[in-house]
Amino acid sequence: MGSEGVFRCKYCGAPLEVSPETIVAICNYCGRENWIKGSGRVLIVRPASENEALEKARRLVGESFRNTVKTPLQVFIPYYVATAIADADYEAKTMVTVERCVSKRKGNTTVRECYTRVIPVYVKGYLAGFGNRYSVPARKGVGGKTVEALGKYLLRSEIQLVELASFKFEREKASYRNILAVELDKSDVNELILDQHLDELRKRVIEEIRREARVKASIHGSPVSVSIVWKRITPLNIRIEVSDPILTPAYYVRYGEQGEYKILLSGFDLRELVIEKPVSRIERALWGIAATMSSGLAGGIAARLLMSQTVHQGSFIALSLAIAIMAGGGYGAYYSIRKMFRPVGVSIKV
Ligand SMILES: [Zn+2]
Repeated sequence: MGSEGVFRCKYCGAPLEVSPETIVAICNYCGRENWIKGSGRVLIVRPASENEALEKARRLVGESFRNTVKTPLQVFIPYYVATAIADADYEAKTMVTVERCVSKRKGNTTVRECYTRVIPVYVKGYLAGFGNRYSVPARKGVGGKTVEALGKYLLRSEIQLVELASFKFEREKASYRNILAVELDKSDVNELILDQHLDELRKRVIEEIRREARVKASIHGSPVSVSIVWKRITPLNIRIEVSDPILTPAYYVRYGEQGEYKILLSGFDLRELVIEKPVSRIERALWGIAATMSSGLAGGIAARLLMSQTVHQGSFIALSLAIAIMAGGGYGAYYSIRKMFRPVGVSIKV
């Protein structure tokens, strides 16, 4: 039982994949918009041809795999591109640790003596026009490295957008084409971007507070560290603009005897975004060594930090650092072990 047979394209009668989340489904055959909820406009990035994608993939895999490259699958993933701008009014109380060194003569040698002090610093300011651009896949529960890579690349690219209503697909290629339906509307995206941008704004303001605190404390010595004791960050004048959904093409190409390796190319300028490659036995052995080393090494550093005698304020930092290193080492080991057993190397180029 599928939704096939229930929903058909109202222009050509081809079956449409429609879920309860679908807002607009685009027909794989005729490429026209079928709005299930509401109405609007869909944009598309003009795709490069399938032949060009095939040629590019053949060049990428090299002579020994050239003849194993399968027919590229063209996929269109809908993204929204949003621009967000906000200001922030902020103030903070910080404690800046500064170090000061003096040279003293003892007999006929010079001794350098350093001591640290903690200086309370108050910071207040206004950050204007903090802006950022985001790409959001217009799908629910869609994520993963490929979708993320294509979204990032879309933001960085010079692209020409065409209205889908005036765009013509090649009908005979429909079996190699997959156009994903739009499942988020502009107000959903607006909310997502608001959260994301406020997070970014907060991070930016905290950086600014630390920077200003260092500058203010530097008259007492060279700043070593800043801790924020208390802060207020008030976002103001938040402006968000969300595009129409943009169908962004990508080519998935399989290669290898069984088609076991994948390549993801951007579908408009054929940039390689994700490449899987066979990993040699020697490389796998090296990953095994890396796994052993990263777990052992991280354990060693963490233990030393945990045992080191520190002043009571610093001990918390040492402890959290130790935990972070252990977690990081654990991850490094996990990553290396996975690499060791998996005969595929993945590199992400964005
Ligand atoms: Zn159709």
